[in-house]
Amino acid sequence: MDPDRILVFDTTLRDGEQAPGASLPIDAKLAIAVQLSKLGVDIIEAGFPVSSEAQFEATRLIAQKIREPIICGLARCVDIDIDKAAAALEKAARPRIHTFVATSKIHLEKKFRKSEDEVLEMAVKGIKRAKGYFDDIEFSPEDSARTGKEFLFRIIETAITSGATTINIPDTVGYSNPEEFGQLIDEIFIHIPSIKQAVLSVHCHNDLGLAVANTLAAIRRGANQIEVTVNGIGERAGNASLEEIIMSLKTRESFYGKKTNIHTQEIVKTSRLVSHLTGIIVQPNKAIVGANAFAHESGIHQDAMLKDSLTYEIMNPADIGWGETRIVLGRHSGRHGLKKRLEDLGYHLSSEGIDRIYERFLEIADKKKEVFDADLDALVSDENQAIEEAYRLEYFHILSGNQAVPTATISLEIGEQKFQDAAVGDGPVDAAFNAIDKIIGKPVRLIDYSLQALTSGKNAMGEVHVTISTNGQKFTGRGASTDVIEASIRAYIHAHNKLKHSTTQHD
Ligand SMILES: [Zn+2]
Repeated sequence: MDPDRILVFDTTLRDGEQAPGASLPIDAKLAIAVQLSKLGVDIIEAGFPVSSEAQFEATRLIAQKIREPIICGLARCVDIDIDKAAAALEKAARPRIHTFVATSKIHLEKKFRKSEDEVLEMAVKGIKRAKGYFDDIEFSPEDSARTGKEFLFRIIETAITSGATTINIPDTVGYSNPEEFGQLIDEIFIHIPSIKQAVLSVHCHNDLGLAVANTLAAIRRGANQIEVTVNGIGERAGNASLEEIIMSLKTRESFYGKKTNIHTQEIVKTSRLVSHLTGIIVQPNKAIVGANAFAHESGIHQDAMLKDSLTYEIMNPADIGWGETRIVLGRHSGRHGLKKRLEDLGYHLSSEGIDRIYERFLEIADKKKEVFDADLDALVSDENQAIEEAYRLEYFHILSGNQAVPTATISLEIGEQKFQDAAVGDGPVDAAFNAIDKIIGKPVRLIDYSLQALTSGKNAMGEVHVTISTNGQKFTGRGASTDVIEASIRAYIHAHNKLKHSTTQHD
């Protein structure tokens, strides 16, 4: 392999999906995988097949449909995990099993109650079993950054002899720092000569805000695979963010001297898709993909920017896929024009899917005349998530005002039947949510609500994200409309649909 090439291993669909409330339906996962392939990632970690039927199916479907990147399935060093991963990856053009076992003292003592020798034995058995299925095997000593070095080196060396082709060093709990993590990578190269036969990968978590910094430090010391997620989503504070590392390597190419296969112009689109589908909003000041990442407010900056954008901008926003918000379509564009534009944006939908989107497109075109790409993104996200709808909004009617008691009447379709109810509330949105709760009859708590304008102007599409909780589980929902009350209702119903979907799966 080219020593200056960094392999990008994307785990948005596996580690990223473990972010609280991010759980994705299969179609949404496939849509993200299609986009990741366009973005040019080398490896897609599609799921943890043994963990649920839905994870298995998602991995299987992605392995079958996505042909260019390597498709990877996660497995503990346990027979059933490895067999399930292999079964899910059976149709893959380039399958990889990623097997792992915890190696830090605290995990061994508290989680496993096993000795180092027993864990080593598990790793060897696991890798050999995986090797019986495929050639491409990745091994992770979980919690490497807190593992005693002598044991860490021993297990890595043994993993390579047993057939692992990639060794991944995870900082599972985000405990390390750039100096220490860089040093660890150095020591691995010094103490394990056979590491040169394998790919050395790193997987950093962001608990102390250092995931990107630690990953870059490892790249400087010779690591040649990075495990990342889009928008940095993941458990707790998340994983190393793909876009930040990629743009560091590109913007400071003469410093790092490394290349990736990423088509950076696809970054913004990928970020938006992941945000829409997971319901996890990108903070406005987020590097690279935040709405303010290239906004210049101060007068001095603006003046200089007009003279030469390089005065205050180290990157060209167009390289990342920030384009002018284009006026794309209006009512006259028709179904065909809509279909064509959706295809240009990379969305290939079934004919019924186009019909449903066309219906909502007309509503929006009537209200706001100009329909932007971001509006279409929102409609497609709604459509992608609409597939498992147990509850569907038929209509709503709101009575509100500064001297009226806010009252909402809602009608929902549940299966073939229609149910209607009314409720009052502190405001129109509260009243609508109360009416929905009365119809569905499942007590939930609203723990988060946010409203965002997707496009600019008075007729902007509003996007609402909600999080509901019940029995300690959280579900996010999103909805978009030019009417913020409708967007709120759609988001709330969407969250209820996810809850319903998860309970049917467990039944
Ligand atoms: Zn992780």
